[in-house]
This record gives sequence, structure tokens and C-alpha cells, in this order.
Amino acid sequence: MLAPLEIHMFPCLWDNYGFLIHSPETGETACIDTPEVDKIILALEEKSWNLTHIWNTHHHPDHAGGNLKLKEIYGAKIIGCEADRKRIPGIDIGISDGDRFNFAGHEVQIMETPGHTIGHIIYYVPSAKSAFVGDTIFALGCGRLFEGTPVQMYHSLSRIAGLPDDTALYCAHEYTLSNGKFALTVEPNNQALIDYVKDATSKREENIPTVPTTVLAEKSANPFVRAGSAKRLGEIRKAKDNF
Ligand code: ZN
Ligand code: FE
Repeated sequence: MLAPLEIHMFPCLWDNYGFLIHSPETGETACIDTPEVDKIILALEEKSWNLTHIWNTHHHPDHAGGNLKLKEIYGAKIIGCEADRKRIPGIDIGISDGDRFNFAGHEVQIMETPGHTIGHIIYYVPSAKSAFVGDTIFALGCGRLFEGTPVQMYHSLSRIAGLPDDTALYCAHEYTLSNGKFALTVEPNNQALIDYVKDATSKREENIPTVPTTVLAEKSANPFVRAGSAKRLGEIRKAKDNF
């Protein structure tokens, strides 16, 4: 029996989250994206963990901006989307949809989830019942369509919704309250959504993160996951952009 992986989450920048995933057995530690170098170093020191890997979800500066510095300090290996190799600073290993790799004896499954950017990937770790979803899905929201189409985002969200209900979704930003306000304009009578927003509001009042969320919670309350068609998702996304 492998010892379970440990996940440590901490705030970075304005509303980003940093994540470390660590094997107590082998000592390997991966950082999911590199939003803020100093905060990541502090988190590693606090835990007495040594950074061995960086798993990038996409190329945006609040996700890959600390890659080179952290690689220089720790010699960490950087994993990112092969198709986006040119935009991932310091990338060592390019991966693609359907790839699997082994992290300290645990399988990690790769899904390409285009929409927010074209080369966006998520990391699903079945043994930890966890997925690191970057800016594809947020609690009660989804990423802006900077590069992809509603059809792509619809497909990406459907795949995330297809993971087991109890999968923890580690979103890269704390956007839940503003997403919730908008979501209530889409489905004002959805009781699951009303309860979700109530719970998130009291958490935020005490400065408690609303991340991770779960697949089940998003299937019940997230208007983008519940859109039902790419066309409707596109309409909701447009309305949110102007909200
Ligand atoms: Zn982004
Ligand atoms: Fe971001």
C-alpha cells in the first residue's frame, strides 16, 4: 500500500492559489503552476519539502511566470502541454491528452481541456481523488474563452463532469462569490446553487477558501457545467463577460 499523497494549498498574488502535492514515501514534491515564487518557497520551507517537479496547466504568467526561477533554485523538472511547448518557460517534458505518468508510484492522468487557452491541460490523480484544473473550471464558473471556442469549453467541462462525483477540483483562483452572484442570475431557483452561495459566503467571511470544490457540487450548481449545449454555454459566457 502506497502512502497517500499530501496536498498543501496556499494563497498567491491577489486571488490565485498555489498547490503542492507531496509523497511522504519518496519525498517527491510537485508544484502545480508557479503563480508566485516567494510564496511557493515559503510553503516548501514550512513543510520541509523539496521541489522536484512543476506541473503547468497553461502558459499565462500567473501560472507559469515562476517556472524559470524555481527551476533554477530547485532543479525541478517542468511538465507542460506538448502542443504549447513554445509558451511554457523551461518545459522539460511535453505531455498530451490521454497521457499518464507516474508520480511517486501514483498514476497521474492528463486531459487537454482547451477553451481558456488552446494548450490547457489538467492533472487528474485518481489515488488522491483530486484534479488540478487550472483556469478551465472554477467553483460556480469557468475560465474566460481567450483562445478557444464555446464548443471546446463545453467539451472540456463535460469531461471534467465525467470524473467521479467525489473528485476534488483544485481551481486556480478564488472567484466563487462573484461567480455565485452571476450564477444566481442564470438559475435563480436552483436550491443547490442557493445553498452553495450561502455556504461560500460564510466561508469567505472567515477567510476560508472555497477551493477545492467537487465534481458533484459543480454538476448541481455551476451554470456552465449545467448549460446543456455549447451554444447555451457560449451565451452564458458572453453574459458573464459583461456582468
Ligand atoms: Zn489563465
Ligand atoms: Fe489564472
